Amino acid sequence: MSRHVVVIGAGIVGACSAIEALRDGHRVTILDPGAPGGEQQASYGNGCWLSPQSVIPPAVPGLWRKVPKFLADPLGPLAIRWSYLPKVAPWLARYLLSGWTWERVEGAARALRPLVEGAPALHRALAEEAGVGHLIEQRGLIYIFPSRADFETERMAWEIRRRVGVRWIKLDADELRQREPELDRRYTFGVMVEEGGHCRDPGAYVAALVAHAESLGAERKQTGATGFRIEGARLKAVTTRSGEIACDAAVICAGAHSKALAAAAGDRVPLETERGYHAVIADPEVAPRHGLMPSDGKMSIMLTPAGLRCAGQVEIAGLEAAPNWRRAEILRDHLLRTFPGLPRSLAAERVKVWMGHRPSMPDGLPCLGPARTTADVVHAFGHGHTGLVAGARTGRIVAQLLAGRPPEIPIAPFAAQRFGPA
Ligand SMILES: Cc1cc2nc3c(=O)[nH]c(=O)nc-3n(C[C@H](O)[C@H](O)[C@H](O)COP(=O)(O)OP(=O)(O)OC[C@H]3O[C@@H](n4cnc5c(N)ncnc54)[C@H](O)[C@@H]3O)c2cc1C
Repeated sequence: MSRHVVVIGAGIVGACSAIEALRDGHRVTILDPGAPGGEQQASYGNGCWLSPQSVIPPAVPGLWRKVPKFLADPLGPLAIRWSYLPKVAPWLARYLLSGWTWERVEGAARALRPLVEGAPALHRALAEEAGVGHLIEQRGLIYIFPSRADFETERMAWEIRRRVGVRWIKLDADELRQREPELDRRYTFGVMVEEGGHCRDPGAYVAALVAHAESLGAERKQTGATGFRIEGARLKAVTTRSGEIACDAAVICAGAHSKALAAAAGDRVPLETERGYHAVIADPEVAPRHGLMPSDGKMSIMLTPAGLRCAGQVEIAGLEAAPNWRRAEILRDHLLRTFPGLPRSLAAERVKVWMGHRPSMPDGLPCLGPARTTADVVHAFGHGHTGLVAGARTGRIVAQLLAGRPPEIPIAPFAAQRFGPA
């Protein structure tokens, strides 16, 4: 049955959802006040990782002990702004509780793995279909550690990854050097996930996917959705800043801005933004062969067409606060320390910085499934640190829900209603 589907948000999740809905013969309208793949999106500036091993939620046992440090150190890899603490406290409590025990972490990992497994191949197929197959590569991803002892502090998370089906191999200092000769010698241990892939340019990829959706017949309107007109448990229209759009179904994929829309569809969800940053060094003197993540920097490093990108940091400060560019400078400085071949000081015009909003649920799981008031509205937001990798399968599941087909993976853990009554 063909329906008129309004896709709200043209980030990676919206782009994939639109294409999959079109494939099913629906009429699709895509709404976004910004440009597809534009800098307003998390999908633009992320770490480029298509990581099927991204199954460990951000909160793990013992994290609560570090909260005073997060408050005291505004430049640590995870920081919480004092002024935002009263507002974010309930979310933060849920966040810490969801990672209170390793059993809970493993439960989340089991739920997430099917969403990210095989993601590089899914993205590659989408990219090829959109004429940008060269943007998706699968060369493996490497976590780098100063020593084996540093790896041991994270061993539990790696064991859980193995138990849920992720294969990874250890690299000693020599093997690491062979794979990444330009890496600083202080890194002497690595873990490689060979099934991992990456997107060379996420902004360009999303823009190409949306352009492909338009070539398949999608209409794009540059406006923001404000809510829904729902009558007798059926969706009649999406309301926007520029009037109503009559439709039969809608998908909420407005990233970190999805909370009010979810509420308009009957679900009060604890969606927060975990703000993140990137720094890109243009014309880098070094060219790492893989995506890399240094354990002492907690950031992803990837060679992109614009330069060497390092992306990371978690800052809990809400959607409105101004960026703290010092955080991007920390990333840049760590990058300089990671590759001795980069110059010690860089001309300012060679470095471009960016800040964006991860759409984050406190339990590290997205909201993916029908809304409380009507199954005509589908939630597809809250992917936190893993929206790029999870976007492709999310799009497929959205289409299955719109068509009334059973989703290809279990989605009960992702129900927006898990947070309690409306
Ligand atoms: C520093 C950093 C590093 C990251 N690294 C990775 C990584 O390596 N791998 C990975 O998988 N994930 C990574 N992520 C997470 C990933 O980028 C996000 O989870 C993902 O991009 C979210 O996609 P989205 O489509 O849900 O939202 P977005 O990309 O944010 O897009 C949402 C869109 O909705 C639009 N919108 C907002 N309000 C409305 C409205 N009312 N009506 C219509 N449209 C609206 C916005 O303009 C925007 O274009 C990272 C994130 C950050 C910040």
